[in-house]
Amino acid sequence: MDKILDIARQQAMRFGFSSAIVTFRQKKQVASIRLRTGIPTFSFAAGVKKFPEEIIAALIFTLLARLKKNVHTMEYQSQRAILIKYLKEKADAERQKMISLRRSQCNPQGHTYNLEERLKEVVRSFREMFLDYYVNSDILITWGKRTTYKRFGLWHAQSRVIEVSKTLDAPSVPVYVVNFIVYHEMLHAIRGIKQSKRPHNVTFRNLEKKYPQYKEANEFLSKIHRNRGILPV
Ligand SMILES: [Zn+2]
Repeated sequence: MDKILDIARQQAMRFGFSSAIVTFRQKKQVASIRLRTGIPTFSFAAGVKKFPEEIIAALIFTLLARLKKNVHTMEYQSQRAILIKYLKEKADAERQKMISLRRSQCNPQGHTYNLEERLKEVVRSFREMFLDYYVNSDILITWGKRTTYKRFGLWHAQSRVIEVSKTLDAPSVPVYVVNFIVYHEMLHAIRGIKQSKRPHNVTFRNLEKKYPQYKEANEFLSKIHRNRGILPV
């Protein structure tokens, strides 16, 4: 905290200010700056305290330069580049951590159904669509941790994990319903990491309708939805 305030004051003086104020907030944005009664006032996300000193200096410098509308200098360009590189690497590392965590927590063995077996069967049944992707990707499948009654499947594109709602892991759920969810999520998977604005567009819906028990599976899922998660008997 004191270290950050020291850097802020030193840099502020370089830009012709007499002092600086530093505050910390729980927020998403890394940092912002505004003038309060002529004094540059910084608002930092709490995580900034853990940044290396040279990164904090680069952050403060770029904020002050922008405040002073003095951004056409070599120093601004180089400080900004240092900052962006650091933030990007940090975000990448956090994303990798999230991906490893999600993949390590996969649990395909349920009480009634083993989802790896379901996935293999779906790939076998629709090999023209899925086999290439399946053998060339490290896709994983897992039961979700909670029961649901609206969404029964999820495709986690970045971690390449299919998640199926725990609600469907029951003897009264026909196997073609579980397979249908796996089929639906595999359709997302083969479309790649590029997220469409409308993932369930006409092309997608037409492929979905190729599932032989499309109607029956949807009717079963609608019943669960109407009963708020209680399985039809
Ligand atoms: Zn979907």
